[in-house]
Amino acid sequence: MVKAKGKIFLGVVVALGLMLGVMIQLTLLARDQRQRLLAGERLARAMTAAAVETLDARHSLERETVLAAQTALLGQPQERAEALSGEQPELLLVVNPWNPLPEDYTVELEPVGREFGTDYKADVRCAASLMQMIADCREAGNHPWICSAYRTRFSQQQLFDNKVLRVILEGHSREEAPEIAATTVAYPGTSEHELGLAMDIIDEFYPYLDERQESTSTQKWLMENCWRYGFILRYPNGTSDVTGIIYEPWHYRYVGERYAREITELGVTLEEYVEMRRGR
Ligand SMILES: [Zn+2]
Repeated sequence: MVKAKGKIFLGVVVALGLMLGVMIQLTLLARDQRQRLLAGERLARAMTAAAVETLDARHSLERETVLAAQTALLGQPQERAEALSGEQPELLLVVNPWNPLPEDYTVELEPVGREFGTDYKADVRCAASLMQMIADCREAGNHPWICSAYRTRFSQQQLFDNKVLRVILEGHSREEAPEIAATTVAYPGTSEHELGLAMDIIDEFYPYLDERQESTSTQKWLMENCWRYGFILRYPNGTSDVTGIIYEPWHYRYVGERYAREITELGVTLEEYVEMRRGR
């Protein structure tokens, strides 16, 4: 009897010992695993940071090239950029090749593309006016079609990179490609579309982004009436030296009704208007 009890006791001790051993092993394994995971995570994070840094460095180099080329091409003095910064109503914020979007710029968006079967979005401050303008333009017998609205920095970067690639495929060198691309696709961070206040609106039956867009009935109506809804034609014919952008008879920018009326009455660009206001 005593012997049997002793055996049971011994068995229990051995079993407990084994269990303890297994538990210690498992704990060590788990710790090892966690450490390996942490090391992996650290490595991944370091790699991402390095990649972002490289990308940033590449882009700031590209940006410098583009800016220098644009300034040389258009003869726009750099000081002019300073004249446009400073205290201004937010709706008049100038974003052009010399005035990038503020780093901390945030935008509250609203969908505006439902009737066009897209997920296009615009700044909440202009979405309702935009839809009203489209509805009234249509009511007048025209065929307006939104083909671009808010763009993220990322989507602008993709547009720009695609353009650079196409320019290289056309036979230009890697070095000259970014500045050639920037003449038609805004450098990321300098596109008004990133504000959420700019839209490209075309005629449904003339879906081309070229100068002939201006002779469609849709554009004629929009150019004549957009100010009533707080919009201006942002890049009028013959203003490239001020805006840094080619004539675009499809790109409309929301500035609010009061400013749109004044800008239209004065017949000036947004850049000139902002400078005039500072001079007051
Ligand atoms: Zn546009």
